Amino acid sequence: MRDPWAAELLTERLATAASTAARAGIDALLVTPGPDLHHLTGYRALPLERLTCLVVRSGADPVLVAPRLEVAAATASPVGALGIEVVGWDETDDPYALVASLVPGARAVGLDDHMWAEKVLALRVALPDATQRLAGEVLGELRMRKAPAEVDALREAARAIDRVHAQVPGWLRAGRTEREVGADIAAAITAEGHASVDFVIVGSGPNGASPHHELSDRVIEAGDPVVVDIGGTTAAGYCSDSTRTYVVGEPADDVLASYEVLQRAQARAVEAVRPGVTCASVDAAAREVIAAAGLGERFIHRTGHGIGLETHEHPYVVAGNERLLEPGMAFSVEPGIYHPGRHGARIEDIVVCTQDGVEPLNLTTHELVVVEA
Ligand code: ZN
Ligand code: ZN
Ligand code: ZN
Repeated sequence: MRDPWAAELLTERLATAASTAARAGIDALLVTPGPDLHHLTGYRALPLERLTCLVVRSGADPVLVAPRLEVAAATASPVGALGIEVVGWDETDDPYALVASLVPGARAVGLDDHMWAEKVLALRVALPDATQRLAGEVLGELRMRKAPAEVDALREAARAIDRVHAQVPGWLRAGRTEREVGADIAAAITAEGHASVDFVIVGSGPNGASPHHELSDRVIEAGDPVVVDIGGTTAAGYCSDSTRTYVVGEPADDVLASYEVLQRAQARAVEAVRPGVTCASVDAAAREVIAAAGLGERFIHRTGHGIGLETHEHPYVVAGNERLLEPGMAFSVEPGIYHPGRHGARIEDIVVCTQDGVEPLNLTTHELVVVEA
């Protein structure tokens, strides 16, 4: 696997961020801990009350402003190897004034999309003449086009979650609760190569009709379809996210009928992925199949979301998104069909748009997996 945090990659990324920002009329990007800072520097810091802020300007080297007690951690991160200057501030200093002093005369600054409101407002006071914009205008564009090393990292994450799905049939049994099954899954997510568990959804029977149901104490019954949507973050920092639908014992006819439509819809949407088509068209490919079966109102969410350092990021595969797909864009294709009060089903793969088509990263079966009651 190529290293997604190689210094050459980060150096180039920082330079691209600075020049793209300048072209967009943004004098400086101000980036606090979160996925944007991680992406630009490899530094994975916790957002805390004290200000840590990367200042990216075109025509000048980037500077990381950090509380004195975090300078060592910042320097030990790839920030050190990149040679980024780290400026420490002491407990009684004003770090916002320090940031302002690094961007004299700035007319517009780009703040990372997840910056805490208290920091946004303090920066407004410190830089009264600068218009505040979203750094996401620039950084979202960079992050959604994955470098080959990032695709490698996403592929590794997908393989790890596939190994977890492969074990799920052994844990699903009538008489066990969703929570018990979820605990087995969570342990396997870390055992199979993730550094952390991001979410575990086990939606049995009627709970499967709630797409973001997590876990409950509901006891799984014979005949229940079970929607299992799971994901974690690998040590490299990239996310997995995959859904499969299982059934405990014999599936009812209406479960099979819905599932057959879903399977065709998901396959159709994956086949629609290639450079130059819109995100909206991929969504439409799935939706048309489900609507043609008379189930359009049972598909209550967009078809997918981008994925990378965050589970949900740009590009969103949704009606109205006329963005054209490009090689390196990675996103989920996850139509679902939900029958409130009864059951639901979803199939979710992460896919990458390639030079001439699509590479699905999740490779476990798309069939409804029947497990012994
Ligand atoms: Zn979701
Ligand atoms: Zn998911
Ligand atoms: Zn997803």
